[in-house]
Amino acid sequence: MPTPHIQLPGGRTIVPGKIVCVGRNYVKHVREMKSELPTEPVLFLKPPTALVRDGGTVVIPQASSDVHHEVELVSVIGKECRNMDTEDALEAVAAYAVGVDMTARDLQTRAKNKGLPWAVAKGFDTFAPLGDLVPASQIDPANVSLELRVNDTLRQQSSTSLMIFPLPELIAYCSSVFTLLPGDLIYTGTPDGVGPVTPGDTIVAQASGMPPLHVAVSGV
Ligand code: MG
Repeated sequence: MPTPHIQLPGGRTIVPGKIVCVGRNYVKHVREMKSELPTEPVLFLKPPTALVRDGGTVVIPQASSDVHHEVELVSVIGKECRNMDTEDALEAVAAYAVGVDMTARDLQTRAKNKGLPWAVAKGFDTFAPLGDLVPASQIDPANVSLELRVNDTLRQQSSTSLMIFPLPELIAYCSSVFTLLPGDLIYTGTPDGVGPVTPGDTIVAQASGMPPLHVAVSGV
């Protein structure tokens, strides 16, 4: 297992305490999943052990036969904050990266149908690929182009301008629930075009202004 740590701008190396993920944050993705549009952000958590960095490998667990990619803008929290106002929320962000919220869609669908949580479907080791960090000052999170390719075939292409809840609202909402700490990650939701990967595939995720993220896919 790769060590799940990140290096914040300025050089501090830290193990993220939590990975907060946002579901249902793009209309076209909500529609492709046949889900209902949310009236407030939909949050779930992944364990930090799910992290895998550029050049790493996503491992398809034996428990699933339908693991999907979800390309997302990831914001990296730089300071402790609680109950942030929307207006000040971006001050909490130290860096951005492109990430992929790997999802065992079959397990998630089963959980949804039973009204059960998504912790298993979203939380396997290597289910949170994360690219190299770019200082927050270099990025406008409201206008980041997102793309994801599997084996050089374009699967997802969109913009963070289409988020239902823009990042300041997400941070304000998250910080009303959890105290956010330096190194915490927020995966901000995926646009449409999600789909399966299988062992032997190569995923390349891109967000404008950030280094691309390459991960291989393998079986157990
Ligand atoms: Mg997602």
